[in-house]
Amino acid sequence: MGELGGFLKIHRGGPGQRDPRERVGDYREFTLSRPAGELAQQGARCMECGVPFCHNGCPLGNLIPDWNDLVFRDRWEDAIAQLHATNNFPELTGRLCPAPCEASCVLEIREGDAVTIKQIENAIINRAWDEGWVTPQPPRRESGRAVAVVGSGPSGMAAAQQLRRAGHRVVLFERDEAAGGLVRFGVPDFKIEKWLVQRRVDQLTQEGVELRCGVDVGRDVSVEQLRAQFDAVVLATGSRVPRDLPAPGRELTGIHFAMDYLYQRNRWVAAELGPAPDAPAPVAVPITAAGKDVVVIGGGDTGADCVGNSLREGARSVTQLELLPEPPPRRPDDRTPWPLWPTKYRLSYAMEEARQTGRGEQDYSVATTHFSADQNGCVAALHIARAQDAPPFAPVPGTEGELPAQLVLLAMGFLHPEQDLLDQLGVQRDARGNVSVVRPYTTSEPGVFAAGDARRGQSLIVWAINEGRQCARMVDRFLSELDGGSSAADQATAPAHPGQVHDAAIRGEADADEGPEGPPQHVGPGVSASS
Ligand SMILES: Cc1cc2nc3c(=O)[nH]c(=O)nc-3n(C[C@H](O)[C@H](O)[C@H](O)COP(=O)(O)OP(=O)(O)OC[C@H]3O[C@@H](n4cnc5c(N)ncnc54)[C@H](O)[C@@H]3O)c2cc1C
Ligand code: SF4
Repeated sequence: MGELGGFLKIHRGGPGQRDPRERVGDYREFTLSRPAGELAQQGARCMECGVPFCHNGCPLGNLIPDWNDLVFRDRWEDAIAQLHATNNFPELTGRLCPAPCEASCVLEIREGDAVTIKQIENAIINRAWDEGWVTPQPPRRESGRAVAVVGSGPSGMAAAQQLRRAGHRVVLFERDEAAGGLVRFGVPDFKIEKWLVQRRVDQLTQEGVELRCGVDVGRDVSVEQLRAQFDAVVLATGSRVPRDLPAPGRELTGIHFAMDYLYQRNRWVAAELGPAPDAPAPVAVPITAAGKDVVVIGGGDTGADCVGNSLREGARSVTQLELLPEPPPRRPDDRTPWPLWPTKYRLSYAMEEARQTGRGEQDYSVATTHFSADQNGCVAALHIARAQDAPPFAPVPGTEGELPAQLVLLAMGFLHPEQDLLDQLGVQRDARGNVSVVRPYTTSEPGVFAAGDARRGQSLIVWAINEGRQCARMVDRFLSELDGGSSAADQATAPAHPGQVHDAAIRGEADADEGPEGPPQHVGPGVSASS
C-alpha cells in the first residue's frame, strides 16, 4: 500500500488550473499537472482498502489502489501496464471523466477528501507517452475473420483496438472527417487537445485497424455490403438525436442545437491549430457567439462547453439556464449517501470563467415560455418564468421575465441514436429508442453487436470505453464459435454436442468478462509495460 497513515499526514491536492481570466483568451488545455514528487505523495494517501470501493465506482474496474501504490514507489512503467490492463485510453478518462471512483473512495466518507485518482491516472499515461512506453501492439496472428465497427467514438475505438489485437481484420467506419466521436467534435480543445486523440487514432492504424473517415454507413456503404464483407458488425454510432424545445418562436434564426455550434467550433479550432482531418470537412452555416448575448438552455456538460466556447469567441454575455431546481451544495446523504455518486451542485469550469470575467451567470428552475424576434426575424429575446420544482416543471404564473438573446443554444440532452441505420439493419430498440440486446452487447440480428451511447443512451466516456471492450469480447467469442472453437472455461461447463453453441456468454448464460481471460491481471515486479 501507499504510506502507512499517509492520508492522515498528507492533504488532498487536486490538479491546478490556469487562471480563468487568462485561459479564455485561447483554446489550450486549462488543467495543469503536478510534479512527479507531489503525485507520489498523493498516491501515498491511498489506504489500499481491503474492499476497494473505488474499483466498483469506476465503470472500467480500474485497479486504482495498485497504480496509486506503484506511483508512490516511483514504478511508473509498471503503473501504466496496470492501467492499460483495464483502460485503452486513460488520457481521455484522466482528463474528462467526472471520476465516480473518487466519489466512492473510502476517504470520501469525509466529503472532499478522496484520493486524487483521476489526476494520478492522467499523470501515469502522460508520463508513459513521454517516455515512449506506449507503442502499437499489432496481433501476433491473423484470425482470418473481419469485423466492421461503425462509429469511431471512444466505444468504437476501444472495440476496434481490442478486436484488432485479438487478430481480426477491423475496418472502422466514421461519418465525420476525423475519428474520435464526441471527444473530437463535442468536447472542446481546452478540455482535451485533439492531437492527443489523433495520437491514439494513429496507434490504432499502426496496429492494423483500417480507418475509413467520411463514410456514412447506411448511405455510402449499404447494409448488404456490410453483411457480405464482414463476419460481424459493431454499432457504436452514439446517441445523437437532440432533445428539442417546442416553444413558440423556436423556428427563428439564431436558435441552434448545441452540437451544431460545438461541431463548428471544434472544426474552426482544428483548422487553426490542427491536427488536419483525414477526409474533407463539410462546409456548414456559420454560428457565432462573438459580440452577442448568448443563452444556453440546459445546465449539463454540453451546456458548459457551449458557455466556454462562447466566452472564447468574445460573447457580450452568457447565461446558462436549467429547468430543474439547483442541487444542494453538499452530498445529500439522505438521497445519495457515500459511496453513491452524489447529486450535488458542482461549479463548472465554464461558469467559473463566466463569473471571473464578469460576463455570465447560471440560473436554475427556469422555464422558457417563448422566443421573440427582431425586425429581421432573428431571435432577440427569451421569455422565461420560474419553473415549479417537480414534474412537469411548469411555469409559475406571475414570475415571468425576459432575457436579451441574439444566440440561443439548446443543450437539453439527447433522446436516442439516429434510427435510420438501425432500421436498415432491423435491430430491435428499447422503449427509449436505444439498441436493445438479447445477450450481452448482442443485438436481435445475428452477427450485429452494439456498444456505447447507441446501446445505453448518452452517457460518459468511461462507460463508452468499457462497453467497447466488453462488446469486443463478445464479438471475439462469437467469431470463435463460427470457427467451432470454444474457450476452455466454457467447455468445462457445457456438454459438447455437435452443432451446440459452446460459449456460455453466447448462449446468454454468462457475462462478457467471464471466460479464460477473466478479469485484468495484477502486475508483478518485472512485468514490462504494454499498451
Ligand atoms: C458536448 C459534450 C461534452 C461531453 N463531455 C464529456 C466529458 O467531459 N466527460 C465524459 O465522460 N463524457 C462527456 N460527454 C459524453 C461522451 O462524449 C459520450 O458519452 C461518448 O463520446 C460516447 O461514445 P460513443 O463512442 O458511444 O459515441 P460517440 O462519441 O457519439 O461516437 C459515435 C460516432 O459514430 C459516428 N457515426 C454515427 N452514425 C454513423 C454512420 N451511420 N456511419 C459512420 N459513422 C457514424 C459519429 O459520427 C460518431 O463519430 C460529452 C458529450 C457531449 C455531447
Ligand atoms: S476512469 Fe474515471 S472512474 Fe475510472 S479511475 Fe479513471 S477517473 Fe476514476
